Amino acid sequence: LYLDQPLEEGQEVPATPGQAHYLGGVMRRAPGDAVLLFNGSDGEWAGRIVLLRKDRCSIIPERQIRPQDPAPACRLLMAAVKRDAMDWMAEKATELGIGLIQPVLTRRSITDRVNTARLGGIAQEAAEQCGRLTVPRVAAVAPLHAVLDAWDGTPLLVGDERRESPPLAVAARALQPGVPWAWLVGPEGGFERAELDDLRRRAFVSTTSLGPRILRAETAALAGLAVLQALAGDGN
Ligand code: SAM
Repeated sequence: LYLDQPLEEGQEVPATPGQAHYLGGVMRRAPGDAVLLFNGSDGEWAGRIVLLRKDRCSIIPERQIRPQDPAPACRLLMAAVKRDAMDWMAEKATELGIGLIQPVLTRRSITDRVNTARLGGIAQEAAEQCGRLTVPRVAAVAPLHAVLDAWDGTPLLVGDERRESPPLAVAARALQPGVPWAWLVGPEGGFERAELDDLRRRAFVSTTSLGPRILRAETAALAGLAVLQALAGDGN
């Protein structure tokens, strides 16, 4: 369970009303039951529920059982796509160890409405489910060119479905261990030619292929992250 509170031995901490409902109504937990806790900075704790009502819950951390993991340095830049696909990408990217999710607007984005609070909630639940001790940050949606203009030089690998780029696995093997990386996937309609040209002009960008088939944006996001995690780790 993620708690946005300092975790210290014996110091009772409140859970949110939503978490109270989840623990009591969904998980059928009761006062006295054990729960695992993390807050993104104090490691993982074994705790015990001391109070559980319909919309109120408090928990006492009893002992730390894992030290804190560092936040992953790798990032996912995902073009704004339909809500269900965004939700799914946020969940799967969290499971695959991403550190930052940056929604971007591209020329063919069919929406500019991205509910980052909702994506943050999905990322938190996915972090709880998969046992990681950090929740990825979800940045405010921004135009792709603005994100690129402010870029810090981290290698940015871009999914190109036009069969014009070398395989992602080749580019991923060339990344230095322990060096951050980022993965960018376009929207349902793909990147415009001018956008790809602009990306290729930037020294930190490598356009890459995931094979001869055109993948849905969410499939490409997930497949790319799996390749990058396997070959380059989480960027720390
Ligand atoms: N509009 C395009 C078309 O029909 O030709 C398809 C765009 S695809 C649904 C969305 C995004 O997924 C692309 O912009 C790209 O970033 C990524 N993608 C899809 N297939 C890919 C592949 N085989 N290799 C690399 N990236 C891919």
